[in-house]
Amino acid sequence: MRVLLVEDDRMIGASVQRGLRRDGIAVDWVQDGSAAESALASTPYDCVLLDLGLPRKDGIEVLRSLRAKRNTVPVIVVTARDVVPARITGLDAGADDYVVKPFDLDELAARIRAVVRRREGRSASRIEHQGLSLDPVTREAHLHGELLALSAREFAVLEALASRPGAILSRQQLEDRIYGWGDEVDSNAVEVFIHALRRKLGADFIRTVRGMGYMLPRSP
Ligand code: CA
Repeated sequence: MRVLLVEDDRMIGASVQRGLRRDGIAVDWVQDGSAAESALASTPYDCVLLDLGLPRKDGIEVLRSLRAKRNTVPVIVVTARDVVPARITGLDAGADDYVVKPFDLDELAARIRAVVRRREGRSASRIEHQGLSLDPVTREAHLHGELLALSAREFAVLEALASRPGAILSRQQLEDRIYGWGDEVDSNAVEVFIHALRRKLGADFIRTVRGMGYMLPRSP
């Protein structure tokens, strides 16, 4: 997958480029609106990450002229914190999604995969449970339609529990699901992941069965 990153902040740009590359995404980085237009005119991208406040030509202008040319490449708008009008303007101008600075790189990568998949009209075999939806192919989790930012191991724990609602999985069983051979395992790693998942899903989503393990109740 090839992504055009349009970001004039060098620190953010460098870290996003590094982070996405680590996820196996090819990233071309430009730092102003005119350079973005040249890149878009010459290269087919799978997705564009577009900062709105840019030198030479601002992000909204770039987006509007892109859509005016009938270019339908998925665009994720990047906005500063709490700038609701900019977000709305971005979506109205044809953006597919937005992220707010500071954002989590895993979540950004997941959103990129999501807009690309949506554009391709693909679907996958999902695991559904109580408003939770897990996509084992893309490793994305949604709760009531909202994308959850989960680490790979948090996803694996949740996937193990959600694929068998009502079944109790011991700490050892969960460890076996999330660690490979030779991985170093902290003794309380599973508890840490469960804690993180409860923070994201709500305290009651995963039940502790004392002395036995964890489960997702069949009904709330
Ligand atoms: Ca900027």
